[in-house]
Amino acid sequence: MATALKLVEPDNRVMDFVSRKHQMLINGKWSDAASGKTFSTFNPATGEVLANIAEGDHEDINRAVQAARAAFETGPWSKMTPSERGRLIWKLADLLEENLEEFAAIETLDNGKPLKVARVADVPLAVDLFRYMAGWATKIEGNTIPISVPYAPGAKYLAYTVREPVGVVGQIIPWNFPLLMAAWKLGPALAAGCTVVLKPAEQTPLSCLRLGELIQEAGFPDGVVNIVPGYGETAGAALAAHPDVDKVAFTGSTEVGKLVLQAAAGNLKKVSLELGGKSPNVVFGDVDVDAAVAGSASAIFFNHGQCCCAGSRLYVEQNIFDKVVEGVADRAGKIKVGSGMEPSTDMGPLVSEEQLKRVCGYLDAGFSEGAKAVVGGSRHGDKGYFVKPTVLVNTDEKMKVVQEEIFGPVVTAIPFKDGDDLVRKANDTVYGLAAGIWTKDIQKAHRTASQMRAGTVWINCYNIFDAALPFGGYKQSGWGREMGHDVLEMYTEVKAVCTAL
Ligand code: NDP
Repeated sequence: MATALKLVEPDNRVMDFVSRKHQMLINGKWSDAASGKTFSTFNPATGEVLANIAEGDHEDINRAVQAARAAFETGPWSKMTPSERGRLIWKLADLLEENLEEFAAIETLDNGKPLKVARVADVPLAVDLFRYMAGWATKIEGNTIPISVPYAPGAKYLAYTVREPVGVVGQIIPWNFPLLMAAWKLGPALAAGCTVVLKPAEQTPLSCLRLGELIQEAGFPDGVVNIVPGYGETAGAALAAHPDVDKVAFTGSTEVGKLVLQAAAGNLKKVSLELGGKSPNVVFGDVDVDAAVAGSASAIFFNHGQCCCAGSRLYVEQNIFDKVVEGVADRAGKIKVGSGMEPSTDMGPLVSEEQLKRVCGYLDAGFSEGAKAVVGGSRHGDKGYFVKPTVLVNTDEKMKVVQEEIFGPVVTAIPFKDGDDLVRKANDTVYGLAAGIWTKDIQKAHRTASQMRAGTVWINCYNIFDAALPFGGYKQSGWGREMGHDVLEMYTEVKAVCTAL
């Protein structure tokens, strides 16, 4: 006889943390906002207040930047060897792993994602990222460079480059993978020897604040990592504009990315941006249909479509269009939507009421332009921020739902005639973050990969992430790369040293 599944209740440790007074971490001390203000975060599964958090603004950012500057210039961090830095980052990874269950539950309560996903994806990926970056701390090297100097005949020089930390870094992260985005940002900055002021998203600050406690427990010196929760328009904008910040790293919408860039112009701080996407997922007529259907469903519905690289535009070769759309719709219809704490849940709520309205607004816009939902197409239930997994057909390139990032569980399916037709359609967007290609033809796979204007191309797979694999966007999907050794370029300056021999 089948037993009814029980809701997993977060354990006392999690609830003690969540219900605690949440302060900000500046110079190794937890403190209230200078203004004394707080803001609430909400449980997206219920819409109820989850926690109250100190609301940082420009004054707190000023204090945090001062602490990060002092730690960078004169603190113990500035004297540490790369090996010592690497060991601290590794220790942080160990602590995170030891507390995996707690972090997964915090992430589910704050963001809404299924607990089973946070357990196998968000937290382990963050652990792995820190370990990968711990290894890089001792391997950030320059070159020796043979130089010729045409106007100094006969002279000899020893020339070499060193990579030095860029300095004080401001990091602004979004709510879709709160802990993992913090790891993507902190890992390389710390490996390179920078100091950091991190601003988590207003919707999901809890896992970053708990990570701050582990950062202290690991033994990072005061001021190396400062965490200031608050709103983007105040705390985020102050960080992006701050004249004593050397670099700002941002992940979020393309719209806000442009604001960050403008704010950074004041002191010409370095900028890296990981922004939006509208990624094409392409299914050719020769595929193993079952595998392509499963992969295409997961490309859009993973994390409720709240992924910058979501395969939100499904292009299918004409001869198998109906079969693939039917398959993806069938899978969408079987996705169990519910609270992330429920063990059988495949898809939780969107992160906020604002996102719920935004995604439903896109659905309305699609329908008014002639799109049809094969499955889904509306809100799910009337409590919490749930949306039904949706497949839209009767769409074309001019429609808002095909051009703009919806950031919800909504895919548009469009048929294509041949390779040329496909490439034109797939690249017809301002974004260039990722693309998926499904085919058994190896030549077609790599030819199409070379034609995609995207920073990541997945062939016969989707959403494969690894700390060693660089990730970032062409066109308006961003500047620079996260992860891999490429990210270290974003956190280092190159110094050329030339000595006359
Ligand atoms: P935002 O781009 O507004 O948020 C990302 C981060 O930037 C948050 O920490 C936010 O703060 C902060 N921020 C907001 N305004 C400013 C500013 N003027 N200066 C500096 N920092 C700022 O995304 P939203 O949460 O508003 O989501 C809207 C849309 O953005 C989504 O529907 C989706 O399309 C896209 N998005 C893309 C993401 C990606 O991974 N590429 C991730 C999240 C969203 P706070 O939220 O605390 O106010």
